[in-house]
Amino acid sequence: VSAASSPAGLLRCPTCRRPLADEGRTWVCPEGHRFPVQEGLPLFAAGADEGVFGDYAEHYDAGHGSPWVVEHLLSRRLEMLKPYLPPEAPILEVGCGTGSFLGQVIGRVGERPGSYYHGVDLSPSMLRQAARRLGRSVILAQADGQRLPFADGTFGLVYCQALLHHIHRRLESNLEEMFRVLLPGGVLWLLDSNPWNPLWWYYIIQPYEGDIKQISTRRLAGVLRSLGADRITCSYHGAMPHRLPAGLLTLFQRLERTWERLPGLNRFSTHYLVTCRKGLR
Ligand SMILES: [Zn+2]
Repeated sequence: VSAASSPAGLLRCPTCRRPLADEGRTWVCPEGHRFPVQEGLPLFAAGADEGVFGDYAEHYDAGHGSPWVVEHLLSRRLEMLKPYLPPEAPILEVGCGTGSFLGQVIGRVGERPGSYYHGVDLSPSMLRQAARRLGRSVILAQADGQRLPFADGTFGLVYCQALLHHIHRRLESNLEEMFRVLLPGGVLWLLDSNPWNPLWWYYIIQPYEGDIKQISTRRLAGVLRSLGADRITCSYHGAMPHRLPAGLLTLFQRLERTWERLPGLNRFSTHYLVTCRKGLR
């Protein structure tokens, strides 16, 4: 079976990782694993518990702060991601949710030939929002991060933002999968909330967040080392309250830049960024 017979480019059976054939409302692999397709969205973990996201998908973006603060956060994240975007090899966002960040990435980078942008999430409700927002510019699939529907060595960049605290009970198996689907030399980019920030309990303990626990950079780096990651980096960013009157944004942006330049203090920033590479061997 040639790769070209797969109905959605790089997507593969998450169980045996062989190409999928289109049988109308079902995709099926040569070994007989079957996956329903609803409104164009393949469900590789149909029936999985969406947690709180089934109920909150439509309001999720609004729940994460004042619109101008969210805009600021996303644009800063984009600046941090840009140096790692591969020119040709495809990219994958794990836990893409409603696609708000993926939309920013596509908006800035622009259309790419072939299948470049990919997003997976466990929640079909969140992905339906993403599909509405992003249209055909991106390949979306519902999948469990512990069984990604891609072959080994597919992506030049795999990234996630604000995902790790949601998957704290299965962090190791998720990171192992992200690592598996990376090309040799590919980059894993992980941005999350910093447990050292003293105000996180205020921002993050919200009913819509469900079962969460923050992941320390120490735990994260330990898992990445055990996977054989190369060149692990860690940096701290952000000092912006999530809710703020629009008129104060400029002032707080200035304060944030000052804060980030202060060694010692920036260790308590709102977010951290951890990156690493998959070795060429
Ligand atoms: Zn299969």
